Formats: sequence, C-alpha cells, structure tokens
Amino acid sequence: MTRSTSAHSIDCIGPERPGGQGLDHNQEESGNLAIHKLLTSADGREWTDFVATARQARDGSWGYEAWALRGMVRWVRQYGPRGYTYQVIEAAGENPLERQDHRALNTLAEELAAAGNPDDVQRAFVEPDALTYPYAYERISQLFDSPNAPDLVVNPKSYAYGRQPGQHGALDVIQSRSPLVFAGPGVRRGAVVEAESKQVDIAPTVARLMGFPLIDGKDQTGRASSARGVAPDVYMERQDGRVLEEVLDPANGRPERVYIMLLDGQSHAELRHRLEEDPDAIPNLRRLIANGAMLEYGSITNFPSITWPSHNAIGTGAWCGHHDVVNPSYYLRETRETVSPQGQQFDTARFVGPGVETLYEAFHRVFGKWDGMAGAFTASINEPCTRGADHASLERRLVGDRGELIMLTKETEHEISPRWYNELEGDGHKLQGQIDNRALAQARQLFLDESHPAPILTYHEFAQPDSSAHDYGPHHEGAREALDETDVRIGHVLRTIEQRGLLESTLFVVTTDHGMATQDVSLRANPARIPQRDGMAAVTTEPLIYLRDLHVEVVVQRDGRTAQLTVLDNDAEASGEKPPVADAEILVSDHRDGKVARVITDANGVAGISIPADLEPAGLRLAIQADGFNSRHMRMDGSNFALNLREVLYRR
Ligand SMILES: [Zn+2]
Repeated sequence: MTRSTSAHSIDCIGPERPGGQGLDHNQEESGNLAIHKLLTSADGREWTDFVATARQARDGSWGYEAWALRGMVRWVRQYGPRGYTYQVIEAAGENPLERQDHRALNTLAEELAAAGNPDDVQRAFVEPDALTYPYAYERISQLFDSPNAPDLVVNPKSYAYGRQPGQHGALDVIQSRSPLVFAGPGVRRGAVVEAESKQVDIAPTVARLMGFPLIDGKDQTGRASSARGVAPDVYMERQDGRVLEEVLDPANGRPERVYIMLLDGQSHAELRHRLEEDPDAIPNLRRLIANGAMLEYGSITNFPSITWPSHNAIGTGAWCGHHDVVNPSYYLRETRETVSPQGQQFDTARFVGPGVETLYEAFHRVFGKWDGMAGAFTASINEPCTRGADHASLERRLVGDRGELIMLTKETEHEISPRWYNELEGDGHKLQGQIDNRALAQARQLFLDESHPAPILTYHEFAQPDSSAHDYGPHHEGAREALDETDVRIGHVLRTIEQRGLLESTLFVVTTDHGMATQDVSLRANPARIPQRDGMAAVTTEPLIYLRDLHVEVVVQRDGRTAQLTVLDNDAEASGEKPPVADAEILVSDHRDGKVARVITDANGVAGISIPADLEPAGLRLAIQADGFNSRHMRMDGSNFALNLREVLYRR
C-alpha cells in the first residue's frame, strides 16, 4: 500500500551545491538496480538496514528517499522559520525512519535489553526494529548538500559492518549518540539536562559562553541573516546548530578559555554505567561532570557517524554536507579521484570547504591573531579538526621545545596499560596508548610554556577509547580499561591547568564524535560493496557509493526517419562539461526485440541511426554499453527501462 502526495505544489529545496550527487534521470536504471541488489541479494538481506539517496526527477524537482526491505519513505525539504523543515510525501510498507526518538536505548541496560539480553555482551546485536534514527531527515538530507556526497549511502544494520568487535558510522541511535558535558563558568552546576542536543550545537554554545557577537552568517539553510531579512542571528559563519540554552547559567560568570576533550568513540551508555555502578572509577571525569551540566540523552552526531566528518562538524557547527569532509574517504567526481583525509591523517585542513568557519578561526576573528605574548592562541591536539589552529599536531605545526616535549612524554609513559602491548601487539596496534600519551605531553607543555599565552581554545582528541572499543567491543573490559586510562590523562590536564591558576576560569566540554555498536564479526559484512562486487560500475568508499553512469541524449530528426544519439560521462569535469564517451555500443531494437541497428559512438560520443519506415520512433528501444560504465536501457523518447522498486519490493 503506497501513500503519496504530489511534490509539485511545494517549494522543495534540493542539494545546496549540486555537483552530481544523488540520482538524476540518467541514473534511474543503475540507481534502482543498486538499491535492489543492496536490499535483496543474500548478503544484502543480512547486512543492509536501508539505502538513502537524493533523487532529481526529470522535471528537475528533488526529493530524498530511504529504502529498506520493510518499507520506504520519500520526503522533501523546505525553508522553515528556523532552518529547514521536512515533509514526508510518500511511504510504502513500514517507514524505515519512522522512529526517531533521541532518548531511546540511553542506558546499558536498555541497550542490552534491545539486543535480547544475550549471555555474552559481545553478542549484543540490535536489530533495526529495536532502534531509532534521531533527526533522520535532517541528517540524511544535509549529506547531499555537498558535491562530494555520493549517489547512494548505505546504512548497515547496527551489528553488520566489518571485522572488528566494535563499529560505528550508521544513522541509528547507538552509533550516533555522544555523551556531552559542559563544566565551568557560565554553565549550570551539577545539572542533568533533558534537552535535545546535536553535535552542531556545541560550537554556537561555546561561542555564546565566550561572549561572541552575533554575525550576519548562514543558518542551517545556507542563507545569511541579511538574505533571510533578519538582524545578525548566528555566531558562526555557517551555523547548523543552536545555542544549548538549557545548560547555561548566566549567573555563574563567563569563561576566559575553552578546553574541548573529545573521547573518541566513547559510548554514552558505557560512560553512564561507569558513573552509576562504579563509584571509585573515573574520578576526574566524575568531578568535571559533578560540577557541570550533562545532557541526559547525550547529543546526536553527524551522519555518517565517523571520525573525520564528525570532528569537523563539532569544530565548525556545520554538518559534513556543509563542511565537505563527507566521509573518511570520498570520491571527487570532477577529477575522478578518491581522497582519504582520515587515511592520510596529516595535513587535512585543506579538505574542509570554504563555506564554513572553524572554532579556531572564529576565536581569532573575535579575540585577534596570536603574536608572541599577545593575542589569542589556539591549539588542536591530535584533533582532526585543525584549520586555523596555531598549534595543530595533525598539520605538523608544533609550538614548544621538542626536547621538553620528549621529557614530558617520558614522565607519563608508565601509565600506559601493558594490556595494549600484550594483547594487541602484532596487530598493527603498537601505538595504543602511546599516541594519547604524546598528546597529553603536548597539552601539558602548551599550558606550562610561558613563552606564549595559555590557549584560549584547546580541542584535544583522546584516541584510546575508540581504538579499544573497536578492538574489544564497546562493552568489553578492554574498552572500560581504556576509559580508566583516559581519565588518568584528563587528571593530568586538569592539574596542569590548575597549576597555572586557570582551572576556575576554564570552560570544559567533554564529548565524543560518535557512538559504538557491538558487531557480529562472523558476518564479515560490508554492504556498500555489494553493487560493485556484483559487477556494477561504481566507486565505493564505504558507506558511500558513487555510480559510474552514461548520460544519453536522443534527438529524433524532424522527418522521424533518423535520430542522433550522444553519449557522455554523466560526471562533469571541473569545467562543468560532461566528457564524450567514444566507442559506446548502441543496440536498437523494436518492441518485439527485433534488431534494428548497431552503432558505435565517435570521438564526440555521437552516433546516428536510421529508423525503418514501418516503425514509430516511440516504439524503438536502445541498449547502450561502454567500458567502465553501467549500461543503459531506454526508449527513444528518453524514458528509462528501470526497475520499479515499489513493485518489486513491496507488492504483496
Ligand atoms: Zn572516531
């Protein structure tokens, strides 16, 4: 049963910067075929939760879709009074994104119950029908605003991705929830706050607490305040989030600096469990939380819920579709190049797009540049968001004496658990603990070194919780030990800042970039690879799929006796032109599949055919094939022979 309303009467807003992302008319056949394979192949049935896309109809209008075996949903995006609004215009079967409660599965007990309370926490696998997908329409739609976005994005089932016991990246609430704590001046003390929160809310909240001025910047719709006809109303150049007013206490003063501690991949449910069930554990985090405001239901992160996109969403206040680092790895259609900021780790600031401002840049805009002992000094410590930071280890910009840094590193080396070396050595994990220990030394040095001002903004990545939760699973003792070790490092940071007499004037933010879900490693699942594995022409950077398709134009000459066919690469080059495809084979047949003609395109991608006098042009069918592209099957009038997904998936 399909319920559908027309999108034509509504002013729908498609991708902000179209550049080939999503499916267009030339990709109807390949897009539907890929979705069908992702959902109905033997592996797809086991691994895939849903597939999402932005689709442009032949009339140019845009809609957004999510397809699952259990049903589909299509929605459109519009301008609302505060940001975008989303309207469902079609649903068939069960809307896979129907449940969006951000409060679901908030505790370890709830998560384990949703998994059927397995005897072994390593088997805490949660099926889609027990999950929710907070802010699903917003978080999927934003991805497709970037020209770096894929044609299709695959959401694996929460337990079905890869060969590690812990994983993340999906839209579901387990993988998307981050703990979030604010502690310090301007913030409520000892409060558990029930407000809704997204990770793009952190930057504007920090800006408000630091007394930034409102500016004529872009809101979530990408339009500046002036373009929206209102007074300056945002704190960041692009601000997708809001100020979390619920955590503020203006009577509690104003911070002089900010220190963001990002506990990569730390499960919110696990953190709460340790706080509630283990009173002697994690004393430093406990003290920060007791003196601050903790979001009861955490805060919902970027989609995909993966490190590089999520860190930069926190650091810019804008979703990945707006800061352009859409995934750890992604494909640039214009240059036919796959880039991997997360793979290269270093020098990745250049991948962050011009349409956003980082917190470092915003701090320097408000408080001035760093100049010796004057101005504002900002620091990115092993943090993937780097652009504009004075000290940025992942840009190889290190401030401070190298010898002293080595000495500080040695001082705390003995605090690294031997467990990582003993259990994980030989698996490419020799640096477990070492990386965070070196980051700690940087943090201490930046506050001890009096040759520059104390950092007004520090954004500090703790990698250990993520590595251990991947290697052991989020609820395993190994992941808990990583949190304990991280808490010791947080203690060092707090003591160093206290030594400088700056503890009481510093605002601390504790959060993560994504959640972590227990994986069924026996599946060795990788749903996004299914179409390519099955022979489709695509570039796959999991969970993103970029189809390689042909743009075909048919011009039937006026006399109805001949037609000109032009075959182009559907991905435009940097010039904006779609390059011609030479040597494409075009088979023409009549409606009874009788062969009419076979032609090959020339260097301009052009071929001509003659139409037999007894046949109507509309009755002719075309099959087009070219090396490296998905083949096309269409009518002479340009309409496609594509799978009718509604028919094949939901006809009962
Ligand atoms: Zn991460």
